[in-house]
Amino acid sequence: MPKPLIYDLDREGLKNLLAEWKQPAFRVNQIWEGIYRNLKSAPEEWSNLPVVLKKIMAEKTEFSGIIPVDRLESSDRMTIKTLFKTRDGQAIEAVLMKYDERRTLCISTQAGCAMGCVFCATGQMGFFRNLTSGEIVEQVLYFARELKKVGETVTNIVIMGMGEPFINYDNTLDAIDRLNDPRGFGLGARRFTISTVGLVPKIQEFTKEKRQVNLAVSLHAANDELRSKLLPINRQYPLSELIPACRDYVETTGRRITFEWALIDNVNDRLEDARELAGLVNGMICHVNVIPLNPTTKFSGNATSLERAQAFSNELNSAGVPCTIRLRRGIDIQAGCGQLAGKHHEASSNSA
Ligand code: SAH
Ligand code: SF4
Repeated sequence: MPKPLIYDLDREGLKNLLAEWKQPAFRVNQIWEGIYRNLKSAPEEWSNLPVVLKKIMAEKTEFSGIIPVDRLESSDRMTIKTLFKTRDGQAIEAVLMKYDERRTLCISTQAGCAMGCVFCATGQMGFFRNLTSGEIVEQVLYFARELKKVGETVTNIVIMGMGEPFINYDNTLDAIDRLNDPRGFGLGARRFTISTVGLVPKIQEFTKEKRQVNLAVSLHAANDELRSKLLPINRQYPLSELIPACRDYVETTGRRITFEWALIDNVNDRLEDARELAGLVNGMICHVNVIPLNPTTKFSGNATSLERAQAFSNELNSAGVPCTIRLRRGIDIQAGCGQLAGKHHEASSNSA
């Protein structure tokens, strides 16, 4: 049995472990603060713990559930992408984006993804396994430690890396809870955004929780014919179910919802596509993020030109739907979802 990953434990779990080791309960605070506030990465770094306890911690728990194995920096140095290997050899990615004052992390929730969206590098590689809550948390701690060295902190987390977070629902929300805890990392719930491909029952469950965490839904098409071609899950949860679930989310939580739309040249970037989208979301408190497609090897579609992206965005805005164009600034470091890990998987399957 592998040793338990320390970041997989909530405070209760840590308390139980300490009891098992016959250590006093007040040590929970010291360990918790050490990990999540002071960003320690190994037992020897605790100066306020007895040597015996540090020894037990080192012997009985794991502090490195993911190990950085590759790192790419964009030419403007504003985007840093890191590839990690899990203890069982899964390749996962996380990206740090430095925009203005923000230090935004894009993190993964699964190794691969089973949803099979045709333009997505992660979807193209298939599904390997869910990440544990600790493996999700550790991606954040890794970058938080890096930023700490230059006196900076993580300000926002977007759950838009590899995988579908609502398939790995409990671990994803546990990870958010752990990072949200004011006694530790203390990142406010509003600083998190979960992006889902549109799993209706999970959107409904998430709505009931009435969390302050932001929700984004990957739409990419405003009719079932095209959406089912791009996002196979649409055959199971068509727009006639997805859109009412989104409306209900907005009405119940009072929170704005974000729709994501990857602009593919001449596929979903025409003015009539914008008008169809505006009709679909009519009256909903929402925001649309459009991103020119990031090309991948196994999808033949091309990225929209900036002019066409602008025209699409203007059409939405004039129909009363707020829209922002996001530029994939990390494009030169393959910052698209799953692209770096995809390469590693290809490399390892070629050599097998
Ligand atoms: N599984 C979740 C979150 C991870 S994907 C989801 O699908 O929402 C994060 C976002 O990147 C999604 O909106 C997804 O559609 C988008 N995406 C994936 N591949 C892309 C590509 N090649 N170009 C542009 N956006 C892409
Ligand atoms: Fe999975 Fe999201 Fe990629 Fe679709 S876009 S394959 S849901 S990671």
